[in-house]
Amino acid sequence: MAKIIQLSTHISNLIAAGEVVERPASVVKELLENAVDAGATQVTVEIRDGGMTFLRLTDNGCGMSPEDAPTAFLRHATSKLRSADDLAAISTMGFRGEALAAIASVSRVDLLTKTPGAVEGTSLHLEGGVVTEQEEAGCPEGTTIIIRDLFFNTPARMKFMKSDTVEGSRVTAVVQQQAMAHPEVAVRLLRDGKQVLSTPGDGNLQGVMYCIFGKSCANMAVVDSQWEQYRLTGYVSVPSDARPSRSMQMFYVNDRPVKSKLLVSALEEAYRNQLMVGKFPACVLHLHLPPAAVDVNVHPAKTEVKFLAEKTVFDCVHYGVLAALNKKPDRPELKLPPQPQKPPVFHPEPQKPAQTGKTAPKQDFFRTMTAQEYQTFAAAMERAPQPRQEAAAAAASKLHVPANMPIREAVTLPGGVISVPPKLPAPPKPPETAPEPVVEQQELPMPEVTPWRMVGELFSCYIVVEQGDKAYLIDKHAAHERILFDKLRENPEKISAQVLLTPISCTLRAEAVGVLLDNRALLDELGFSVEEFGDNTLLLRQTPMELNGEEAMQTLEELSDRLLTGHREHPESVRDEALHTVACKAAIKAGWHSEEAELLVLARQVMEREDLKHCPHGRPICITLSKKQLEKQLGRT
Ligand code: ADP
Ligand code: MG
Repeated sequence: MAKIIQLSTHISNLIAAGEVVERPASVVKELLENAVDAGATQVTVEIRDGGMTFLRLTDNGCGMSPEDAPTAFLRHATSKLRSADDLAAISTMGFRGEALAAIASVSRVDLLTKTPGAVEGTSLHLEGGVVTEQEEAGCPEGTTIIIRDLFFNTPARMKFMKSDTVEGSRVTAVVQQQAMAHPEVAVRLLRDGKQVLSTPGDGNLQGVMYCIFGKSCANMAVVDSQWEQYRLTGYVSVPSDARPSRSMQMFYVNDRPVKSKLLVSALEEAYRNQLMVGKFPACVLHLHLPPAAVDVNVHPAKTEVKFLAEKTVFDCVHYGVLAALNKKPDRPELKLPPQPQKPPVFHPEPQKPAQTGKTAPKQDFFRTMTAQEYQTFAAAMERAPQPRQEAAAAAASKLHVPANMPIREAVTLPGGVISVPPKLPAPPKPPETAPEPVVEQQELPMPEVTPWRMVGELFSCYIVVEQGDKAYLIDKHAAHERILFDKLRENPEKISAQVLLTPISCTLRAEAVGVLLDNRALLDELGFSVEEFGDNTLLLRQTPMELNGEEAMQTLEELSDRLLTGHREHPESVRDEALHTVACKAAIKAGWHSEEAELLVLARQVMEREDLKHCPHGRPICITLSKKQLEKQLGRT
């Protein structure tokens, strides 16, 4: 081996640059953090050609004195730390004293800076980290720093750069990320002379989000919770607005953007059983905690943090988000095709809507049915229970349907178990001799609730409910599935089961039989009792109360599939998956005939329970159609 020597400052700066200065976006991040630490309330970022050849940051912060300005470019030179104790409780964005040294070592830098009240400012020029010029200069208070020809002296690094467009977009992303970290700072970004972002700087996070994401963030749920010294604020998407990736999840810890698996899993835990597979929540979440409760010095770019009390952080985020979601109604509006341009006129002949070029709706929403279609439709309507308004209204008011009445009841017959719709309790008989109306005892005053009525059922699938100026279309299967799932899940003990009079034999693939026998404890918990019966056959002696024999067999088969392919690291999620299967199988299905009383029980649960929003697979249970939407669509406004 060669002789050991100490590396020169230049080389060690280049090595440090490799960690801190990866690309124009990382330069912008460091410079923005410096501006924030300098107390700036206005920062402008300008880039040309993706930031490789020209990048300028102007702030109105505290500036630097003529003595400090060149020192700032020395390695480990900082005004933010004095002792090792300071490192334990950092409240500034920067503290490593590396960024300016690292950036300057791989570029050409011009600095203009002036402290408040000073007569003259300072102008500085550096090439590859060496100060080549310093002079007095007239300039506004604050700091302007220009970085030119990034990586001009490290061609190897230059090769890793992508196109200007890609690098420029990364800069935009970083500026957006920092703007959301500091809503109190007005941030502007110019790309090749064009303004692409300008935030108000009034401290309102939603205002910043609006500048970045547009109207789409208006429907997010507001998070604001406090747990001891931990405060969580921000916005999270409602489950029906979930995204196909995690790219819209932004976490800030003490105003510092961070990547953290802990925070991601705490967030997603709050959405458990509410999202479809492959969908992820979006969020902009700020966690504030005492500086001593978090170590920010675990990553050169300061994007990772270590929490002292991980469990507390997890709970704070999980329950904070959960509370926000529970407060927020999530019943997506029915999306109608765009409104026709002109008010509709009367056409003696059925006509297709006017074609308006590319924007014309593809779907003929209000087209007249053909005779054949009409026949099919009419036949289907005949088969489906008719919407009997009076009966439904009467049912709601007089039938006294108990809120907790089961939708289906299991009845054990000699041949096995079948499910039947519940019997409604007989309406109370009018008292024979008492002409006085029965006055129900008044309890605590209830909050005002707009009355609703069930209008009927559509296509043997959707319950139609009217309330005030809104109509709700409730997916009866999804609603029932969710209600059953919650019921099963709430029960911390075993699920109630029924012993079959005649055991059912169930033949499955060998691995399926194996995995089910291996998980007998889980099956037992779910209300199944199985025995080995040889020849890939299981004997089913006991099933959950909610399932009949046929459904129980199908459930076992699905369970075996899930157990064979599913993630098994979390026992809780295995149980949840199993409960989904049971709930899905036991729930009434679309296309099934349902008694009015059943529909009413479902409708009541959905209308009265704000938390019923999604089936356990994440599909919405209910969508809204407003009177206004209809009026607009039908040209009544
Ligand atoms: P750090 O931010 O970790 O202290 P930097 O290398 O980023 O290290 O900056 C070094 C020092 O330069 C800072 O501590 C600060 O005193 C000064 N400085 C950097 N940028 C600015 C700015 N925009 N306005 C005022 N002072 C600044
Ligand atoms: Mg810094």
